[in-house]
Amino acid sequence: MIIVMKPNVPDDAVTELLARIEAKGLKPLHMPGSERVVLGALGDERVLADLALENHPYVESVKPILAPYKLVSRELHPHDTIVSIGNVGIGGSRFALIAGPCAVENETQLLASAKAAKAGGARILRGGAFKPRTSPYSFQGHGGGALELLAEVGREVDMPVVTEVLESGDVELVARHADALQVGARNMQNFALLKAIGQTRTPVILKRGMAAKVEDLLLAAEYILAEGNDQVVLCERGIRTFETATRNTLDLAAVPLLKAKSHLPVIVDPSHGTGIRSLVTPMALAGAAAGADGLMVEVHYDPAVALSDGAQSLYPAQMEALGKQLAQLLPVVGRTL
Ligand code: PEP
Ligand code: MN
Repeated sequence: MIIVMKPNVPDDAVTELLARIEAKGLKPLHMPGSERVVLGALGDERVLADLALENHPYVESVKPILAPYKLVSRELHPHDTIVSIGNVGIGGSRFALIAGPCAVENETQLLASAKAAKAGGARILRGGAFKPRTSPYSFQGHGGGALELLAEVGREVDMPVVTEVLESGDVELVARHADALQVGARNMQNFALLKAIGQTRTPVILKRGMAAKVEDLLLAAEYILAEGNDQVVLCERGIRTFETATRNTLDLAAVPLLKAKSHLPVIVDPSHGTGIRSLVTPMALAGAAAGADGLMVEVHYDPAVALSDGAQSLYPAQMEALGKQLAQLLPVVGRTL
């Protein structure tokens, strides 16, 4: 429920209302704005009927939040949220390019790939330490050692770093080394993991599950916000469809749709979204044109020797060219690189 207060409501009336909402077993929210104070009540809204809030002298209007994802919804929070990863904001007029190799392999590989990412305009470095592989026989990532290397290289190239966390027991460890946590497509509905991440204050990049609807993604984000962490970036990375010509079907219509439904920033991953190197740049540009707040792109200093996802990793020269094209395109949609 959204409770809009009249202008100049006294603080004690607000405190009293919040207490009455809480006494009904609902979660009270206090959202002071520049013009109005707005309160929220999350939970079974039927119990609010006997509080007759609409008759309260300082209440202007009471309306239900129609979306099932309450905290994530624009109904409750009309303005864009800007998520800060290190010193990089995602969700404002400056576009956030995230790039790096699929996995952290070794120092030479990571440093050279990080430099290629940076030369292409990326401001956040990605790299997997714990890899969620479809086959148990594929390279699983170098784990804890890779986390340290990622943090070290991030400092060297002066970029905040993001890496995936696969299980709730590792959240604290990964958060100690990374500026942002990534929840992968295969874990989008790992509710224990979402709750554990929600209890941290570390920013999160939440990827859409490969069989997840837009609403499922928004409800997964709601799990994180409901635990108190509102630093969530949504990532469209393609879904499974009958089409097998590409690794996934990149659902770019989801970008403006997510932005309309939620205040959270939205980024696009054209690398996993297509799985094919030659398609990455065009779909990256398309994602930017569709209104994404940023991109996550895989780049490797030598994709031919990559331990994972070489076929979709950009060459350094392609990364640099992408940066140049984005810089030209973004002003059309009111952003800069
Ligand atoms: C990744 O970013 O390396 C990754 C495994 O992505 P996804 O979870 O989208 O498959
Ligand atoms: Mn990958």
